[in-house]
Amino acid sequence: MKKLLAKLAVNYPGITFEAADTFYWNPRKQTVCFDPNDTSVTAEWSLLHELSHGILGHSDYQTDFELLLMEVAAWQKACELQSQFSSNNSPIDEDHIQDCLDTYRDWLHSRSVCPKCDQVGLQEQSNQYLCVNCLESWRVSSKRFTRPYRLCNNTKAKTSPVSTTKQMKFY
Ligand SMILES: [Zn+2]
Ligand SMILES: [Zn+2]
Repeated sequence: MKKLLAKLAVNYPGITFEAADTFYWNPRKQTVCFDPNDTSVTAEWSLLHELSHGILGHSDYQTDFELLLMEVAAWQKACELQSQFSSNNSPIDEDHIQDCLDTYRDWLHSRSVCPKCDQVGLQEQSNQYLCVNCLESWRVSSKRFTRPYRLCNNTKAKTSPVSTTKQMKFY
């Protein structure tokens, strides 16, 4: 990952790369955070994915679906970057991408399903959904998506992945 990091830093001087305990994009600081101790095959993919959020200018989202679309876009961009910059010949595994996106799909689904009739509702506001089938409306937490456990490096899972600050983060 070091070699790749050096190349990316040269090619994207406007973006800061900072060691942290997990991978994420911090739009306010225009910073890609990465875990320097992660030696798994997915580490480079995560790095490219977070950088992609930065290149695509992802800074906020209004609806849950918008976040999902940003995640899809960031993975598409990451694949381009992989072939452009990575020296190892392991393209980003499509299964890995779908696994990551499933986390967002599951999250979106659990928020959008009508508690009364199980139909998928429409998000009227960032914290409210409406069912067009039975007209039930329900509130969802306006708290931003936080990375669930199963995407974290299991060997050193923290007690809580929730950030103490209100900073916007993309995973
Ligand atoms: Zn309903
Ligand atoms: Zn992401």
